[in-house]
Amino acid sequence: MANTVEILKQNLAGVQSCIRRACKVARRSPDDIQLVAVTKYAQWEWVEALATLHTVFGESRPQQLADRQPLLPDAEWHLIGQLQRNKTRSTLQHADTIHSVDSVKLLKRLSQQADELNHSARVLLQVNISGEESKSGFCPRELLEIWPEIAADTDPGIRIAGLMTMAPLGESAESARPTFSGLRQLQQQLNDCNVRPKLTELSMGMSRDYEVAIEEGATLIRIGRSLFHGLSETDT
Ligand SMILES: *Cc1c(COP(=O)(O)O)cnc(C)c1O
Repeated sequence: MANTVEILKQNLAGVQSCIRRACKVARRSPDDIQLVAVTKYAQWEWVEALATLHTVFGESRPQQLADRQPLLPDAEWHLIGQLQRNKTRSTLQHADTIHSVDSVKLLKRLSQQADELNHSARVLLQVNISGEESKSGFCPRELLEIWPEIAADTDPGIRIAGLMTMAPLGESAESARPTFSGLRQLQQQLNDCNVRPKLTELSMGMSRDYEVAIEEGATLIRIGRSLFHGLSETDT
């Protein structure tokens, strides 16, 4: 455990220093960037150790989120991966933020259940900026069209706070830039619609490209590998 904490401390410091560097380039404050530690591949011992240093975690699978959140209830837990219809209820019970709302149907279901369960959550609309068929998410044009309607129809318990995207797997971090700037432009267009709520959050950037994402306006970055590298079975 002690060794694990030491490694995590170094990794976290490394990530924080890259965040500061990117913020300097973009003339932004590091306080405006929320680091979501993605724990989907992490052993539980590592998550526990990281919890002594950091309090915001992201899980990709709703079931693992439901299993882990009760073990660290004081942390802030986010769902970042695909949400199946039969997992919405459990996710509302375990997540503060859901990054992956990728359809009107899903948004409506969350909205209805938030009302029934008297639960609230912050949600982000996942957008498929790159247009790859393999990626889920709203198509930007479609979202612009339906935004006034879905903004008005959503239960107040579901706070639509912003947008999320995933960049295509490119050769370099730089190749993700058009996707990230595309998400920021879409945010501006949606906010120009003069509809409430205003979208303030942009969830974009993973280990390989978060510095570029910060330069392009990310407010939430989702980091897994860079936080957990150097740990293996033998370290626990
Ligand atoms: C796994 C995952 C991440 C983190 O990726 P790393 O390369 O480990 O930093 C971020 N976002 C989503 C949606 C993921 O599934």
